[in-house]
Amino acid sequence: MPDLDLLIHDTTVLTMNADFDLLPHHDVLVKGQFITAVTPTVFPKPEARKLLDGRGLMLMPGLINAHTHVGMSFFKGTAAAADLFEWLNWTGRQQKKMGPQDAYWSVMLAATEMIRAGVTTFADMYFNQIATAESIAEAGLRACLGEGIMEPFGDAGREAVDAQLDGAVRFIEECQGMADGRISAWLAPHSLYACSERTIARVLEIAGAFKAPIHTHLSETVKEVEDSIAQYGRRPPERMEELGILEHRLLAAHCVHLSPSDIEILDRLTVGVVHCPGSNLKLQSGIAPLPQLAGRKMAVALGTDGNGSEDTLDIFKAVYLASVLHPWERKHRPAHTALAMATCEGARALNLEDEIGTVEAGKKADLIMVDLGHHPRTTPLNNPLYALAFTARSDDVVTTIVDGKIIMEDRVIKSLDEAEVLRQAQAGANLIFGGDSL
Ligand SMILES: [Zn+2]
Repeated sequence: MPDLDLLIHDTTVLTMNADFDLLPHHDVLVKGQFITAVTPTVFPKPEARKLLDGRGLMLMPGLINAHTHVGMSFFKGTAAAADLFEWLNWTGRQQKKMGPQDAYWSVMLAATEMIRAGVTTFADMYFNQIATAESIAEAGLRACLGEGIMEPFGDAGREAVDAQLDGAVRFIEECQGMADGRISAWLAPHSLYACSERTIARVLEIAGAFKAPIHTHLSETVKEVEDSIAQYGRRPPERMEELGILEHRLLAAHCVHLSPSDIEILDRLTVGVVHCPGSNLKLQSGIAPLPQLAGRKMAVALGTDGNGSEDTLDIFKAVYLASVLHPWERKHRPAHTALAMATCEGARALNLEDEIGTVEAGKKADLIMVDLGHHPRTTPLNNPLYALAFTARSDDVVTTIVDGKIIMEDRVIKSLDEAEVLRQAQAGANLIFGGDSL
């Protein structure tokens, strides 16, 4: 029997290493979960249990969606432009109609969309994450899942949030490291404005006891910042520092409204900021100061947010927006920076940079193959890296590999029944929304 499990033969490798090396006519060798070598193509081919022909394709690290809510994938296309709080109230009412079966098919629908879009790892904040972890293990993806914690809106009281905190402990105990280590268990207090100081204190106790990282929303809207100053005399990052949150590993989504001193407070190796341009545009939250955030100690990743506010989980769209939306200077190399945010910097934000994010020997084989050569939108192919940033779309991904396992090959998903997922998702959404939208 051959020693190699997988050979990707004669492909162009975009390594996403520090030099953005692009290696035409290379082979990538995989054994078990790991890349064992990236070498110039040799003939005769090394023997492997599985061969993928890489000619005419680009091989790159799987994309990372560092902020989403996969339990909300039924919500795509249900809201036109709305402000965040109006939208939160509307979606909250609809979410109450969802049962466990809807939650299951919602997660599987998001998994299907991400596999097709070349997203191999995502960071998620939602409720009932034990069930999500089981579904994602089945779908074959890698995920950092955080059990959502928020003070219930309206008149529900303390008991509800205490139950959420107990659920968060149970989730970490049951799911940390499951699916051969593909699932990481995090804590996900929704935001400072949706959690009391008592709740945050308990979250930090749990984070300390389990060494669990924290995923939250931060400084998303002007209202959030103004309310924080009015109520506490502090901007949200100042409160985070004061409450001790920054002593833990933190993933902070949005960070649209940051002052220069906020950026200094957040600029540490244990902080990841997630830029979600599509969601911020749709919910009219504003545009994050990305050129001031990139290239610092803090990692800056890309996210879509949930399907309710961004509608798609297409990280290529986020790469495009991050490349063109900001007042970049040429020296910033916006296309390179945005692609790094979707790969190696995204991995650093999730504390996974030793495992994923580049195509190098010793890393986990989380890889995608992209076809940039057979569509008028991507032809002619002049600068492959610019093509990925400016003309590529999720549909251009042909093969998706996670942990050395091929979960989509030649655009056919192998880890789940796509037709059944689409059928169930449509049937579930019909019952919940009944044609209603915001
Ligand atoms: Zn979010």
